[in-house]
Amino acid sequence: MRFSSKFSSGLIFSMEKKDIKDFTIEELRKELNKIREASYRAGQIFDWIYKKGACDFSGMSNMPAPLRDKLGRIYDFGNIKLKDRLESCDGTEKFLFELSDGCFIETVFISSGDRNTVCLSTQVGCKYACVFCASGTKGFIRNLTVSEILGQVLFLQHNLGLNMTNFVFMGMGEPFDNYANLSKAILIMNSTEALGIGARRITVSTCGVIPGIEKLKRLGIQVNLSISLHAADNKLRNALVPINKIYPLEKLIAACKDYMGEAGRMITLEYILIKGKNDSSKDAAELSRIALDLKAKVNLIPYSPVPGKKFKEPSRKDMQEFKEALVKHRVNAIVRESKGKDIQAACGQLAMRETS
Ligand code: SF4
Repeated sequence: MRFSSKFSSGLIFSMEKKDIKDFTIEELRKELNKIREASYRAGQIFDWIYKKGACDFSGMSNMPAPLRDKLGRIYDFGNIKLKDRLESCDGTEKFLFELSDGCFIETVFISSGDRNTVCLSTQVGCKYACVFCASGTKGFIRNLTVSEILGQVLFLQHNLGLNMTNFVFMGMGEPFDNYANLSKAILIMNSTEALGIGARRITVSTCGVIPGIEKLKRLGIQVNLSISLHAADNKLRNALVPINKIYPLEKLIAACKDYMGEAGRMITLEYILIKGKNDSSKDAAELSRIALDLKAKVNLIPYSPVPGKKFKEPSRKDMQEFKEALVKHRVNAIVRESKGKDIQAACGQLAMRETS
């Protein structure tokens, strides 16, 4: 949004409004200095936004009204709008958000025992075209801003009062394809001045973008890494997860080992079981070899049908048998129940419906 602003110098100029939630606290301090305001105000603004859920400057009562007006002329909040909320009979909730340019994203809230996990999106669409995935169907549209990534957490926490314990970047998009905004959002989530979420409660899931794994390793906080593996040999993985042609399994495994050594964290392998595709005993043996090599836990997820895709969903028995085959190889494997089947919970389905 364009506007004219008059500062104390009397100079009138035109500038674009900046999104206040795109800044880390250090960046906001510098911003405030630039507009000749005290940098300590950054702490107050962060407190209002992240701890109290403010969506504009008007209620920031510990700041004088002229300052609030001035900030409102320079910054906006890039608030995302809730367009739809679907609740599954198993308690899973799916939220469809509209962004300022009319794009849609999804956020999923999964409650299981004492864990309330929120699955966050990082992009509108996705360019990686994994063949079983709804998010990749329409291709890539754009990256989410830092504010739009954080906006999902803030909306669920402050507008809906949901108590979230775990945060996974496993929604629409490949997180490492939007590394700059993802990493900044993680640092803000982790910072005690903002949301104060422990790094160990944050997981980034990638389809295998090695440069992203290398950058995350240098972020300086111990975020969990999860690999969307879905196939344990290169031929099948090339067909299901095409990025494997650029970053094949042997290189991906080496990058994971490097991450574990540097970040001191365990890795999780996500494996969507597709009936008749990646569920043979040979697949189980290959997957076990990788899991044991990485000392990784395997999450088995039943394929959730996506309209227009020809893949078959496995039965509970198929899931159990595949898990037992892994356990026989001494792999720590668990079956993740398919949550929210009645609310189109496969990633990207709701947004795809909205844009088609
Ligand atoms: S599975 Fe992930 S990386 Fe693959 S197309 Fe879907 S959103 Fe993109």
